[in-house]
Amino acid sequence: MTNRYDLLVVGAGVAGCMAARVGAERGLSVCIIDVKPRDRIGEKVCADAIGKHHFDRLGLAYPKGEELKARIRGVRVFSPSRRISYFVEGEGFIVNRKPFGQRLLKEALDAGAELLDKTKALGPIVKDGFVVGVEAKRPQVGKLEIYAEVTIDASGFLATIRSNMPPEAGFPSWIDRRDYCVGYREVRELEGGLEEPDVCHIYLSSILAPGGYAWVFPAGEGRANVGLGVQAVEGHPNPRALLYEHLLSWPMFKGSRVLEAGGWFIPTRRPLENMAWNGLLLAGDAACQANPLHGGGIGQSLLGGSLAAEVASDAIEAGDVSLKALWAYNVQFMRLMGARNAELDVFRIFLQRLTDDEIEYGMSKKLIGEEDLARVSEGESISLSALDKLSRALRALGRPGFLRRLSRTLKLMKAVRQHYEAYPASPDRFKSWEEKARALFEEARKL
Ligand SMILES: Cc1cc2nc3c(=O)[nH]c(=O)nc-3n(C[C@H](O)[C@H](O)[C@H](O)COP(=O)(O)OP(=O)(O)OC[C@H]3O[C@@H](n4cnc5c(N)ncnc54)[C@H](O)[C@@H]3O)c2cc1C
Repeated sequence: MTNRYDLLVVGAGVAGCMAARVGAERGLSVCIIDVKPRDRIGEKVCADAIGKHHFDRLGLAYPKGEELKARIRGVRVFSPSRRISYFVEGEGFIVNRKPFGQRLLKEALDAGAELLDKTKALGPIVKDGFVVGVEAKRPQVGKLEIYAEVTIDASGFLATIRSNMPPEAGFPSWIDRRDYCVGYREVRELEGGLEEPDVCHIYLSSILAPGGYAWVFPAGEGRANVGLGVQAVEGHPNPRALLYEHLLSWPMFKGSRVLEAGGWFIPTRRPLENMAWNGLLLAGDAACQANPLHGGGIGQSLLGGSLAAEVASDAIEAGDVSLKALWAYNVQFMRLMGARNAELDVFRIFLQRLTDDEIEYGMSKKLIGEEDLARVSEGESISLSALDKLSRALRALGRPGFLRRLSRTLKLMKAVRQHYEAYPASPDRFKSWEEKARALFEEARKL
């Protein structure tokens, strides 16, 4: 085995497998490493829901056979009292995560990528201001060095390469605790099945899931994926304890049997402002590419991995893998997904500061209605027009403060989207752009 490649991908999750496949299809020599043994690749603590549009955008075959647990026709979002619910239409799938991951891996290997499993990346090898490869460890072999023109860190939330980069790269080594959730979920076999086996249920409530939400998603064959995520702030409650204390006492779980259980982190912020350096790109959870509002990151990570490999391949072909040459990745991701995610992040910050009473009130008055949520899920902005019409009537109802905050939030969302849509075309204009982005999010925290 050689230890020198065009492209080295760290992590064979959804982002990494997609990156390895696209890189190999473009004729690059690709090595993909994962700490797991080959037959466990694809395993991931997740609620496994993914919108159909992600497959359409990337030209990926829909999951079928053992990869598919259920087809979905929408999401129902419940208010804290559970008396009000919104139904948001949208086609999607519940994937069987391991066979789905194994398919993505096979596609990468069939395209020509080489897998080094049971191999743990320890950190980047940095030479003359460039990432030139990765130091790793394998059982029986010990430490080894793998070199590549470009490395893609797709190692998930812990981002092994990013978090061990020298400070001059400017990456955060850890994410602000307010900007991720700690999740726990179980897959359970139910005695009576689910009332809506083709709808994902989401529950907003500071009792069930402070700063996050609880879910009951279909998992096929009378099974449910039930879990919750809580904002990871200092002193946050244990999500497993909350699940046992509240959700599992609901009648539908009486007599149910645990099939799988586990917890992990969910990044819920806008993408990192910069996801590239000399010889390095970040994709998937390592770059915080998941949707900040609901934490869905499978589709986003597939897109990130695909774009990263395309840009890496262009740069390698042109013989320039500097930050300047790899910058196109930031520009493309921000255009296709980042600007929308940044806009939603402002709304996420607003939602996390609301009381249950305010959420109940907002949903009962349809301040942001089902159609708005459907538009948001398609990547469009929430419109202010309905709100403007309502504002006079609502002032009379005695909640002017809440309405003012909502109105300011929607305006700030628009400003953030415009700022991200004007993402700098090259790194030399990044510093001033980043300062303004930071100022906008400081404002969001104060609303
Ligand atoms: C509880 C929970 C529920 C979720 N529900 C949903 C959902 O319903 N829908 C949705 O779209 N998203 C959901 N997500 C988010 C989604 O799972 C992630 O956004 C997505 O899997 C990220 O993909 P990734 O490839 O970036 O990282 P991962 O899937 O985490 O893959 C990272 C890979 O890197 C490997 N690795 C890690 N460190 C190293 C190392 N040092 N060396 C070598 N290999 C390494 C790991 O073994 C793994 O294979 C959920 C997440 C959680 C925690």
